[in-house]
Amino acid sequence: MTDIVANLKKIQQDIHHCAQIVERRSNEILLLAVSKTHPVEKIIQAYEQGQRQFGENYLQHAIPKIIELNQLNIEWHFIGKIQSNKTRLIAEHFAWVQTLESEKHAQRLNQQRPTDLPPLNICIQVNINEEPQKAGVLLQDVQALAEVIQALPHLNLRGLMAIPAARQSVQQQNYTFNLLLQAYRNLKAQFPQVDTLSMGMTSDMQAAIAHGSTMVRIGTGIFGARES
Ligand SMILES: *Cc1c(COP(=O)(O)O)cnc(C)c1O
Repeated sequence: MTDIVANLKKIQQDIHHCAQIVERRSNEILLLAVSKTHPVEKIIQAYEQGQRQFGENYLQHAIPKIIELNQLNIEWHFIGKIQSNKTRLIAEHFAWVQTLESEKHAQRLNQQRPTDLPPLNICIQVNINEEPQKAGVLLQDVQALAEVIQALPHLNLRGLMAIPAARQSVQQQNYTFNLLLQAYRNLKAQFPQVDTLSMGMTSDMQAAIAHGSTMVRIGTGIFGARES
């Protein structure tokens, strides 16, 4: 059985350690627990340890879990690929979308966000290594999409998110995260409410934190291997 309590503690210590190396405070770095494929029992275990931010990317699995746990004070982040015919479900059930990559989806999420909920928090996904098959916008297109989001009343632009190319050397990780950090600083200079740079997973957390990550997204390191 996965020891979620021990895993969470270990990840928190790792975050603290990575922050210390570069003289950052670990409370500037939020841990997003990626619970995709894992049952509600495991989410509850993490919740009981104080974890509040959870990430899901398969909508059909996420919605029943969100509904079942709606008495808990969880902040749900959508981190999967957005399909146009599913934007309403996302707008109604999540507090954050980290994978926005098109104006069309921004417009739909804005229209479909229930007005009794606070604005939907948005990170633009950046295809930072310009991989043809990968989701996200190119760096040069961040600005245009940011302006669209900024003008929509039911969306709140919070920052950038990226999933770097797999199997990069530490040198490549550093290069990639530095590009993102520069883009994030540019964005923040124009849109002062921007406060989120979502980068870093289990294998590249140290480089991400060294380059200013404010949110790391960890699945396997907390919940063990994916279940389906
Ligand atoms: C699955 C996933 C993660 C977590 O990956 P692990 O390797 O399980 O830590 C992080 N970010 C995104 C966007 C994911 O889809």
